[in-house]
Amino acid sequence: MLVLFCFNAIFVYCNIDIMPENLKKTSVLLIYTGGTIGMIENSETGALENFNYEQLQKHVPELAKTNCNIDSMQFDPPIDSSDMDPAAWCKMVHIIEDNYDHYNGFVILHGTDTMAFTASALSFMLENLAKPVILTGSQLPIGVLRTDGKENLMTSIEIAAAVDENDYPIVPEVCIFFENHLMRGNRTTKMNAENFNAFRSFNYPVLAKAGIHIKYNKAVIHKADYCRPLKPHYLLNTNIAILKLFPGIHENVVAATLAIDGLQAVVIETYGSGNGPQRKWFLRLLKEASQRGIVIVNVTQCNAGTVEMERYETGIHMLESGIICGYDSTTESAVTKLMFLLGHGYGADKVRSLMVQSIAGEITIN
Ligand code: ASP
Repeated sequence: MLVLFCFNAIFVYCNIDIMPENLKKTSVLLIYTGGTIGMIENSETGALENFNYEQLQKHVPELAKTNCNIDSMQFDPPIDSSDMDPAAWCKMVHIIEDNYDHYNGFVILHGTDTMAFTASALSFMLENLAKPVILTGSQLPIGVLRTDGKENLMTSIEIAAAVDENDYPIVPEVCIFFENHLMRGNRTTKMNAENFNAFRSFNYPVLAKAGIHIKYNKAVIHKADYCRPLKPHYLLNTNIAILKLFPGIHENVVAATLAIDGLQAVVIETYGSGNGPQRKWFLRLLKEASQRGIVIVNVTQCNAGTVEMERYETGIHMLESGIICGYDSTTESAVTKLMFLLGHGYGADKVRSLMVQSIAGEITIN
């Protein structure tokens, strides 16, 4: 169930101007899904529990001081992002589709744990997106004195509302904003469970840095095609597994994974530039699975850098077994892209051919 809170009136009567000139008369829809940003400590157990958007609003009086119209919608109940799933992604896409013409941009408040998966999924599901969709959250709840949530929230709103000299959105793509950095959503990974600086885009430059001013790196920001209408997608197929290699992995672990009933794709996390063991059983199992129509995508366990399967003999053998190159994809992006492509009902060969093309700026192919 979704609840709509509309609090434009608060902004109409507010005359404190803390936003830049180019934010005037712009509107942003805030979609509150849950996460630490909106949690409060249970006084009995000490555990963090979700609270609703109205409570969150009380902790951010700054929201009422913007010149930007802000409406909000919330998931009811809000969820810890560990419970995120394709149905919740579809809810977000529905909200954006239904409200697309009424807002300059969208801010999604989301738990950090699976934010990179959601951002990646939305980047594929929102085809022809021409407006900002900014995901943000926080490491400390918004009610806590040292919270990073207020800063993340206020700057995300500013970015979602920002337009250029011709009134076009500056960042028409799905992004994560966290701790002063705006990153392409499908390039981002959560890499720290504790620091405020929790996310990194290892293989793609940051789109903007927020200091006294927000400095946009326009050369690396997606250029929207305004002639194409938004095309939302809702069909995702989750018959996917992730197989992470480690020295000593047993044959029966690989065999059991590849034999999962209904399995259609595997993201295999390999070593370095895409290498894996040269054991006969390993290559045989991969080859047999590929021949059965399972799409196997090779991504590296390293945070930064790309898979180059031709570089070492071990990679070449995997290539010969029918494994496809995931280039510099994050695991989050590879998994959600597979869900998206399989959701279209494409056959294995079509999925393989689209996996080695960039469809939302998610991989770099030199
Ligand atoms: N468990 C929380 C979540 O992802 C953590 C966070 O928001 O930072 O929902």
